[in-house]
Amino acid sequence: MELIVFNSLSGEKEVFKPIHEGRIGMYVCGPTVYYDAHLGNCRTFISFDIIFRYLMHLGYKVRYVRNITDVGHLLDDGEDRMLKGARLEQLEPMEVAQKYTNGFHDMMRVFNTLSPSIEPRATGHIMEQIEMVEDILKRGYGYIKNGSVYFDTLKFIKDKNPYGKLSGRIVEDLLAESRDDLKNQDEKNNPSDFALWIKAGDEHIMRWNSPWSVGFPGWHLECSAMSTKYLGETFDIHGGGNDLKFPHHENEIAQNMGACGHAPANYWLHTNMLLLNGKKMSKSDGNTISPEELITGNSVHTTKAYSPMVTRFFTLQAHYRSTLDITDDALKAAEKAHKRLMESMKILSSYKGSFSKTVGSKDEEINNLLKQCYADMNDDFNVPKALGSIFELCTIINSVKDGHIEASSISESCWMAMVKQLNAFVYDIFGLKDESQHQDSDTIDGLMKLIIELRKTARENKDWGSSDKIRDMLKEAGILLKDGKDGTEWTRE
Ligand code: AMP
Ligand code: ZN
Repeated sequence: MELIVFNSLSGEKEVFKPIHEGRIGMYVCGPTVYYDAHLGNCRTFISFDIIFRYLMHLGYKVRYVRNITDVGHLLDDGEDRMLKGARLEQLEPMEVAQKYTNGFHDMMRVFNTLSPSIEPRATGHIMEQIEMVEDILKRGYGYIKNGSVYFDTLKFIKDKNPYGKLSGRIVEDLLAESRDDLKNQDEKNNPSDFALWIKAGDEHIMRWNSPWSVGFPGWHLECSAMSTKYLGETFDIHGGGNDLKFPHHENEIAQNMGACGHAPANYWLHTNMLLLNGKKMSKSDGNTISPEELITGNSVHTTKAYSPMVTRFFTLQAHYRSTLDITDDALKAAEKAHKRLMESMKILSSYKGSFSKTVGSKDEEINNLLKQCYADMNDDFNVPKALGSIFELCTIINSVKDGHIEASSISESCWMAMVKQLNAFVYDIFGLKDESQHQDSDTIDGLMKLIIELRKTARENKDWGSSDKIRDMLKEAGILLKDGKDGTEWTRE
């Protein structure tokens, strides 16, 4: 079966062919670490996590590079996001970067996403970015003004390079409009030109020496420089949210072509946006739910808490190229469906029936559904469709347990194939985890709190008999109580 992917560059589905057989290089634009990631950011990284996991499942050796943006990503008023974070929190910019990188990693772990193979930081690759600007200048696609360096979009277009192809923009419109947030717009030859290197003003404390000025790199440059360094001048897949198509990815392509003459990636994959109240979830509009708010239930948008795996499952229910609207009702439905899936997975792993030694009457239906899961994933990673087939399999599994389907109508080898594939899909590819163990420990914590409280009341009432009985029975169960000045704590023996 061939893997088909939707390539944003051609606007079509294409057969995926890696540059080197058996190996894939994939670059995904990572977070700008000046605030806590919101659920929209998480959706994009979960989508690419599933793509990463599926490519590995197909047997590819994948080098997955996802950067950390810690310089150069400017706000509308031209202030660097990192410096704004530092100003508001009275921290060093690097402290801000570290704080939110740690938070981002914690969140990614909570949602069970795999770490990328390499996670380079923009500030750790200033030399590489300076070298790329030099290459662009050498090839005549850049110019220097007052210590800043700009990319010459007009020359790039005149030389018949495809500026605007990825984002589907008309060149004339592109040339008329500026899409960057620089303070010195009048230094540019054309409004559409963009900064490669920016001379730092006095207030700009993140600054480095360069041949042109003490300054800092333009935002788009880091991804061009770091993808080239770790994946080569041309690699297989470049990804990100579709809000990055323009100007970020369009300018990345221009920089790479300007520096070495060819485009960086063969396939561009873009995820669609997570919506809240029908509008893009976005930090700047204040239209966000944080992962913490969702997990603790502390959000005005939800009526209860949703576990990390329910949240992850919720994101699986829309194709990565479709928008997904987060609502309390949709989350409740996801919680129910996730529970049903996990219950069927439990039956699947523990059910012992007398399956047939020869081909059973249900085998064909099961085998077709198993094949369909691969067909759906190979069709541009259609997770919701594959999930649909998996739920049909869950209905069969539940019916076997309830006795509505005879185990003897399924062959042993067919059942075992289903066990193997569903484990691979649900846990390895979709990255879901069984949270019931975790829930067990939550329940024990709750019960112990109650028991300790009851013992405290007994002691306050001088009911030493009950208090000692509770302690002794817990000891028999392997639990020790320790009374201290801050109350009673418990440990396992
Ligand atoms: P940022 O930290 O703003 O650079 O964003 C990090 C990643 O999250 C980028 O790939 C964005 O495209 C993506 N992103 C931002 N908002 C959303 C959203 N509402 N839904 C899905 N992805 C998003
Ligand atoms: Zn990028």
